[in-house]
Amino acid sequence: MKKETNKLDKALARIVGEEWIVREKSYLKVSPRTSEEVSQILKVANKEKTAVKPRGGGTGWWSKSRPGAGGILMDMTRMNEVRVIDEDTLTVTAEAGISFTKLESKISEKGYRLVLFPESGRTATLGGHIETWGTSPYASSGFEDQATQIVALKVVLPTGEIVPTGSGAVKSAAGNFARRFFPADLTGLFIGAEGAFGVITEATLKMHKWPEAIITRMIGFPALGGAVNVLREFQETQRKGGLLTIGEQRLMPREMLMAVIPRIKELIREDLKIVLTIRGDGDAVDVNHHIAQACAIAAKQGGIVVEDEFPEWWEGRYKLISGAIKGPRIMLVAMVPMGKFLEASELTQKIGQEHGTHIPMLGYPISGPIMLAHAIIPVGGPDASERKKALALARKLMEALMDIGGVPHRVGTDFLPVITKRLDAAYYDFIKKIKRVLDPKGIMNPDLVIAGGK
Ligand SMILES: Cc1cc2nc3c(=O)[nH]c(=O)nc-3n(C[C@H](O)[C@H](O)[C@H](O)COP(=O)(O)OP(=O)(O)OC[C@H]3O[C@@H](n4cnc5c(N)ncnc54)[C@H](O)[C@@H]3O)c2cc1C
Repeated sequence: MKKETNKLDKALARIVGEEWIVREKSYLKVSPRTSEEVSQILKVANKEKTAVKPRGGGTGWWSKSRPGAGGILMDMTRMNEVRVIDEDTLTVTAEAGISFTKLESKISEKGYRLVLFPESGRTATLGGHIETWGTSPYASSGFEDQATQIVALKVVLPTGEIVPTGSGAVKSAAGNFARRFFPADLTGLFIGAEGAFGVITEATLKMHKWPEAIITRMIGFPALGGAVNVLREFQETQRKGGLLTIGEQRLMPREMLMAVIPRIKELIREDLKIVLTIRGDGDAVDVNHHIAQACAIAAKQGGIVVEDEFPEWWEGRYKLISGAIKGPRIMLVAMVPMGKFLEASELTQKIGQEHGTHIPMLGYPISGPIMLAHAIIPVGGPDASERKKALALARKLMEALMDIGGVPHRVGTDFLPVITKRLDAAYYDFIKKIKRVLDPKGIMNPDLVIAGGK
């Protein structure tokens, strides 16, 4: 066994250099610098039939960020440079291990930004975000979701081939400016695949000009129903072409917001249990007009608007809300039609009460009138049995949300047993076929996407 281990160590050291491999407990951490190195590592892993787990920032919530014993942890964070800022096609191509804060700061120098900004973005990487189908609280119908921002990828398949997706696959193309082309949307295959279909080494995203104005408002509601009605009206208006600068529409319990912005205590009355945060960004005239219109819609539904800019909200986009979620927890994220969000929230409270715990739920629209419901299930303590207990509760809640028509959004190993039970059999077979073709030896994240790795 030791001899085998040494053989692997040596083969990998020849690829990345000795200083970039570290033996950590039962696995080997390897930090490649280029797509070619990633390719060579995967070829060795195939030959040795060794499991490989890529890791970006390690902030993903839904599966372990370490491989099993004897495996390779592929640390992507050395691949963290911006490659191309293309002001003609308004795209940026960057290496997959870059953090969101670094990427944003690089394109900011030229007056651009992304509309993706996960709160974990000081550590979370571009590749990890894409592979976990990451979200940002940017909910205008004009934006839809993460996938609409991704133009192209460079992927290393589990067997080591380096493959560009998108128009960059045409040798004479002026760049990675078009995603959907011959013969199908192969970029989409890797979005949300949790690293089971290959390693993303580069990604091309849309860039946006920094807006002239950013205005935030918070609106308190005595009950969730009124706030959901407001969101529905926003979505209908946006589908008609109105309110398009209202990018953020997030519902949270007041008590949670108070944990990160203590002055909420004075600004929002105690009986207003639900707070809708809206943020408009874009042309100053449009934003002012849309914020006023959105506040008027909210007031009609009993919302009390706080006339405050809340600068800490936008400035805190890479840290603020995470600060409100204290202690170990399991994050459940499910998509539910907007008309079912109230029921989803009531169900969550009921199941929490039955288990003697409080489960906060927050949400924001994704892809139009669909709510991305986040339930935060507290874990009672550091003991592994406490996580197991919380996970059982989280799975029960996910089942209940599926009973009312919802679907899991973030899956990982946490919710894989729940989703596979109800997957159309032909669909699940199709996933397995793709996995077998791309990864015949089953080395890449074998326990994700396919239950039990087979
Ligand atoms: C405090 C906090 C706040 C958060 N806020 C948000 C938020 O606002 N929005 C959001 O979407 N998520 C959020 N998350 C969840 C998490 O940050 C995201 O899933 C994140 O984008 C994952 O990126 P990462 O680089 O840390 O990935 P990792 O945790 O390193 O990896 C996640 C998965 O992707 C795979 N992977 C990583 N890199 C690659 C690659 N290059 N190629 C192939 N597979 C790869 C891994 O094997 C793993 O399966 C938050 C998490 C925390 C702890």
